[in-house]
Amino acid sequence: MAAEKATALVLRAIDFSETSVIVTLFTREFGKISGLAKGGRRLKGPFESALDLLALCRIVFLRKSSDALDLLTEAKLERRFRVSEAGLAGLNAAFYVAELLRELTHDNDPHAELFDAADRTLVVLGQSRDAGAHVTAQHVFRFELTALRLLGHMPSLDACAECGATVEAKGRVPFGHTAGGVLCAACRPGKRNVVSLSAVALGALGKMSEEDGAASGVADGVAMDIERSTRGELRGLLNHYIAHLVGHELRTQKSLSDR
Ligand SMILES: [Zn+2]
Repeated sequence: MAAEKATALVLRAIDFSETSVIVTLFTREFGKISGLAKGGRRLKGPFESALDLLALCRIVFLRKSSDALDLLTEAKLERRFRVSEAGLAGLNAAFYVAELLRELTHDNDPHAELFDAADRTLVVLGQSRDAGAHVTAQHVFRFELTALRLLGHMPSLDACAECGATVEAKGRVPFGHTAGGVLCAACRPGKRNVVSLSAVALGALGKMSEEDGAASGVADGVAMDIERSTRGELRGLLNHYIAHLVGHELRTQKSLSDR
């Protein structure tokens, strides 16, 4: 059994025994893995405190066959998520990023570009205490759109999700959660799970999805001007869309409100 090395973000850590921890990690090289870290709860030892939630670390692990948990043998901390510098909104947003990765990705399915986007997003969220709710919200929106795009779930925003006809963004536009995007007037009737989205919210979504990837605009301090009501509308839309994708609401979505 060969030892593998990887760079990993800690998505979840559950105490398993007096001394051991089961961790869910999103690795750059192997995608999501779950592993047992024997001695992971000890402050001293091969893991020290590298397995804290949201930390970035370098790990060594032994891959087990199909069902069995991988075995972590070493973890070295590269970056800790500092709650004091993130503030509560930043921390909640970071928890959400972790849950999103856990729910949207499959085991052993690597997505290096998504890993890099998550890593960058956690860095900016980790410094977001004084950034303001609208900036934090935009980091989250951009990460969500990047994740949806890279995982093949990006909703259609300007062409009808059913027939491909151009859908003009004016007034309110029907958005089908099951159809996977906006709907034209001809395709709208009879569709289930359809909400009506304001053209302003749709426009903001389109703009952020064009600029996604690096979360670059916001990281450089150039946050878009999105009104609170529009942010609320987008939050509701994405909550519902993602819940529909994974089959249930995400636990951490509730704490994302920026009121
Ligand atoms: Zn159509």
